[in-house]
Amino acid sequence: MTYLMLTGGRVVNSDGQIDADVLIRDGKVEALGNLSSLEIDDMQRVDCTGRLLLPGGVDVHTHLDSPMMGMTTADDFESGTKAAACGGTTTLVDFAMQTKGDGLLGSLENHRNKARDKAVIDYGFHMCITDLYRGATDEFAEIMQTGVTSFKVFMAYRGTLMLHDGELFDVLRASSKVGGQVCVHAENGDVIDRMAADLVAAKKTGPGSHEISRPPATEVEAVQRAISISRMADSPIYFVHLSTEGAVAAVSEAQSGGWAVAGETCTHYLTLDRALYDQPGFEAAKVVLTPPLRGKEHRDALWRGLRGGTLSIVSSDHCPFCFEDKKRLGGDDFRLIPNGGPGVEHRLSVIYGEGVMQGRISLEKFVELTSTAPARQFGLFPRKGAIAPGSDADIIVFDPNGRTLITAETQNQRMDYTPYEGWDLPGAMTAVYSRGDLIAENGKYVGAEGRGQFLQRATL
Ligand SMILES: [Zn+2]
Repeated sequence: MTYLMLTGGRVVNSDGQIDADVLIRDGKVEALGNLSSLEIDDMQRVDCTGRLLLPGGVDVHTHLDSPMMGMTTADDFESGTKAAACGGTTTLVDFAMQTKGDGLLGSLENHRNKARDKAVIDYGFHMCITDLYRGATDEFAEIMQTGVTSFKVFMAYRGTLMLHDGELFDVLRASSKVGGQVCVHAENGDVIDRMAADLVAAKKTGPGSHEISRPPATEVEAVQRAISISRMADSPIYFVHLSTEGAVAAVSEAQSGGWAVAGETCTHYLTLDRALYDQPGFEAAKVVLTPPLRGKEHRDALWRGLRGGTLSIVSSDHCPFCFEDKKRLGGDDFRLIPNGGPGVEHRLSVIYGEGVMQGRISLEKFVELTSTAPARQFGLFPRKGAIAPGSDADIIVFDPNGRTLITAETQNQRMDYTPYEGWDLPGAMTAVYSRGDLIAENGKYVGAEGRGQFLQRATL
């Protein structure tokens, strides 16, 4: 039996703050409170005076070692989870892509093998469906039994990832029958493909055209359509990476009608402006991600949506492709620029700085959006998402007086850029614990290799 006590810190959960010592036994939180008189042999004490103790981040939208547009994302489960750990995230739910020609169960097993012995933090998967072959939905029950209790589908990228409306209906209906939930990438892919082709025909082939080909209405229409289809299928639905004011409004309306509709947004939609597409040369390719960045009115609506509870989660959509060897492949045609950017390492720092310190959200709300709500939504609470007796001791020791400087040179993500280059943010993660193990200190990974565990997730 091993004991550890974090003493003198301020514990922040989504429902309140308390000055408390935290006693950890065998990787789980044993007790909270004034424990200074407690005498236990061989107990390690760590002084956390002046520090906040936050539940480790839960990021439910990452693409590690993942096939995408004929390439593979830059971070594998080792580098990606180490980067996550250094940034305070101790749990991931990653997308297990179905690979063409492989069944769902086989694809899931392939992806699981990529994580095994490499991940350093705990992880689960969403099963991503890109080809609804005959009999695919019959596998849902077995997939659920393996602890993978959510599915993901795309309404864009016809010919590679997209399902048509009938298939979306099939997936929603089959998933809800077995108690699963469906995560939807909502964009009108067919309209986007035509707008993109028109731009190329007009010789507007630069990276900035990516944004023009995916206007806000292409997201809003798809969100409205998917909500309608989910109602026909009598199924809950979860929207990934919402980026527009209209999408927030559509989700809000459905929720007020009593429908089980939930939505996330991502770090970059809350903090980066579409003006980055107007940069000269090929620089804009760094923010060719999908949906694209939007203007201020959309950002304000997303923050409002988070504060009011319409949107419940902030994820990273970590989908990294290096600038020099991958993004440049789209040098003559923006459609060939791989879509995605890095973010798993900096989600918490950026949202703390731009959210809490800018007065947009409270500290408790920060914990809720980045840890508690994602854990709850995806069947990991209360094991993850809280510092409470019985929970895993996944804890960030946070110095509110520290600073975090983000640069490509010092990041742990296996990337040659970050969209937050040079951001100097308030607050610093001085230590990160996963199941009671010290795994990161001052932005460096210090834990054991391959220590992450696969998480069997509960149903909704
Ligand atoms: Zn994604």
